[in-house]
Amino acid sequence: MKASKMLIATLKEAPNEAKIASHILLLRAGMLKNEVAGVYNYLPMGLRVLSKIENIIREEMDAAGSIEILCSALQPKELWVESGRWGKYGPELMRLKDRHEREFCLGPTHEEVFTSMARDLIKSSKQLPMSLYQIQTKYRDEFRPRFGLMRSREFIMKDAYSFDKDEKGLEASYQNMYDTYTRIFTRCGLKFQPVLADTGNIGGNGSHQFMALSDVGESDIAYCDACGYAADVEKATSKLDGYKGKYVGEVEKIHTPNHATIEELVEFLGCEAKDLTKTLIYHDFMNEKFVVAVIRADRDINEIKLINACNSNENYMRMATDEEIESLGLVKGYCGLVNYKGDVEVYVDEEVSVMDGFVVGANERDYHLKNVKFGRDFTGTVCDLRKTVAGDICPICGKPLKINRGIEVGQIFKLQTKYSEPMKCTYVDENGKNVPMVMGCYGIGVTRTLQAIVEQYHDEFGIKWPLNVAPYHAVIVPINYADPDMKACADKLYEELKKNHVEVVLDDRDAKPGFKFKDWELIGIPYIITVGRGAKDNIVEFKTRMEMVKTEISFDEAVANVLNGVKNI
Ligand code: ATP
Ligand code: MG
Repeated sequence: MKASKMLIATLKEAPNEAKIASHILLLRAGMLKNEVAGVYNYLPMGLRVLSKIENIIREEMDAAGSIEILCSALQPKELWVESGRWGKYGPELMRLKDRHEREFCLGPTHEEVFTSMARDLIKSSKQLPMSLYQIQTKYRDEFRPRFGLMRSREFIMKDAYSFDKDEKGLEASYQNMYDTYTRIFTRCGLKFQPVLADTGNIGGNGSHQFMALSDVGESDIAYCDACGYAADVEKATSKLDGYKGKYVGEVEKIHTPNHATIEELVEFLGCEAKDLTKTLIYHDFMNEKFVVAVIRADRDINEIKLINACNSNENYMRMATDEEIESLGLVKGYCGLVNYKGDVEVYVDEEVSVMDGFVVGANERDYHLKNVKFGRDFTGTVCDLRKTVAGDICPICGKPLKINRGIEVGQIFKLQTKYSEPMKCTYVDENGKNVPMVMGCYGIGVTRTLQAIVEQYHDEFGIKWPLNVAPYHAVIVPINYADPDMKACADKLYEELKKNHVEVVLDDRDAKPGFKFKDWELIGIPYIITVGRGAKDNIVEFKTRMEMVKTEISFDEAVANVLNGVKNI
């Protein structure tokens, strides 16, 4: 490709809304163009990278035996009613009506469509197991689209769905996808970590997320160096530290005037935060009830764990308002459950349940109770509600956990019969009985992966694409294309590389060399070959973008270097 004929859309400055390096660089390198929050257009360079990532995914999915199809983004409401998700999915679902008032959504994911596909098209149990996938555009009306392709309202996902006869089959299909994802992200050049995950809106039991390690990631990963345990903090558990508390004895009311916060109480009582408990009130709209969570005061609540415990949904649960708390007969800042008779469902963290005594609100302004003991003075369902933090005890081996940040680039789920049962996606077993297929589903955020690569591979000059996904492998930059020796050498190099199937650009633009270098370093082409004064002696300057190492080498060596690199892709 000749640079003069390309749409090179580099920018000196990124638009203001771009906050993180990868977003800034994708805009500045002219890979993307933004029209409205969370919606992006892919310019030629960006599209080339996108296609490369898609092809890696396609090759690995095909090799794993999955079959590619392509579904519409437009999905009828009826399918979502069948699965029970029309009412549950919440405001992220982009809903629309046609001119006949028929309701649709723009698919945020395709479990319903693929289940319907398998129900209608898999005729015989002999066709099982089967795995289907697509690479397709998804829509989610994210509350806060941000960070470019990381959290957009329209994005490209690879989604796959497996259909097995039984649990054992699902285990094998799941492991196959786990291994396939490992190969895909490795080929994309990502530094990543598979972690145990919560199943969220998708449902089912058993899930892993693939996290690209990065400080700008929105997910926290709890991991253990000693045994390899790794889990999203939403899911992560820890062994109890066994703290028993120092307030043991008969319940006693204490006057704590204007000491409603944890810090104030700790100071006033001369204790530690872990001697106190927090009583948090939530409104669960899904089950129309109020839920109370009790955790140690040195802890933050993990709302996902609470939502799972009470069988609700993240779109239908929020903290109760002051009015709601009052209407329940509870006193804000001094909430407590001792002698409380209101109609609420109570969940108590395991750590609280094993304490011999603690301090809790007296449910009366300016008063707390000390020496309160769970089981004796109030009751509730005991479960793990706490947010895992660094230093917590590894649930497997007992060593301290650490926390890392990650970008979720993929997630796999064992769905079991969550969709096949309500949607009657069955097969006939050897006894002639209709049994639901056992399903798994497997997603990769293709466009998020693209940006995660930039987040891991950039420097002050721009993007440093790994060769596997670079928009072009090499660029030839003649210092002065009007100089006959330089032109002859650059043209010859260009032809030689093209002949060998190298994706190469010849920068024939009438511009200063410094301007050209800035562009290619920003765009991030792995091999930058400068043709200058050495041209007449067949000497060129060879630079690797990843290392920014420059060497003067012969024409033939330059060709060999590029071919050597490209042959390993
Ligand atoms: P998140 O927790 O980040 O909102 P999710 O768990 O809801 O993501 P999944 O339903 O697991 O997402 O979708 C599969 C993959 O699609 C995710 O692993 C992620 O890489 C990608 N993805 C999800 N939402 C977005 C989005 N708004 N923009 C870009 N990619 C996304
Ligand atoms: Mg996910």
